[in-house]
Amino acid sequence: MKRAGVLALQGDFAAHADALRRAGAEPVLVREAGQLQQIDGLIIPGGESTTMLKLLHLDKLFDPLAHFAATRPVFGTCAGAILLARQVSNPAQESLAVMDIDVERNAYGRQLDSRVAEIEPEPEFRDRTAPGKLETVFIRAPVIRRTGPRTKVLARYNGDPVLVEEGRHMVATFHPELTPDARVHSLFLEKL
Ligand code: GLN
Repeated sequence: MKRAGVLALQGDFAAHADALRRAGAEPVLVREAGQLQQIDGLIIPGGESTTMLKLLHLDKLFDPLAHFAATRPVFGTCAGAILLARQVSNPAQESLAVMDIDVERNAYGRQLDSRVAEIEPEPEFRDRTAPGKLETVFIRAPVIRRTGPRTKVLARYNGDPVLVEEGRHMVATFHPELTPDARVHSLFLEKL
């Protein structure tokens, strides 16, 4: 069985571990660099990207993670998506630059800060998983302002990309770990 890691420094890593179990994988909670050798892919959860960034440096995980991503799949959700982006604004902060996307943090403003929306994913998502709308939970989400030529948009909300893949990597600006639908995690597990 493939081993899927979840970065467990901060944020909702426990919900991702449960979501991986629902998708049929056994999660490994990753807290130190040595554990990266035991896993085939890694999820970076939602939470607070600035705090997670500080902890990545404090726990000497920043460079090992960048190194891991050079050969293994990484899936970032919300704060995790911010950490994987090439460029971050509002405010600018350092990132792992694993995906060729630019994101603006907390970009939905106060009124739309957090919400649940039903969206129809792009046909390719349906073809690779199963048909049906996707329930998307947004919590102080970033907006993906730019995607590179090699990225593929698998779902949009109000025209903005919210689920994007680039080769072995994926990001979601929403929280697929908070709904019972296992399709997004299954898609990631196929990359392992
Ligand atoms: N607003 C958070 C940040 O900028 C992300 C929120 C989340 O992960 N749900 O890091």
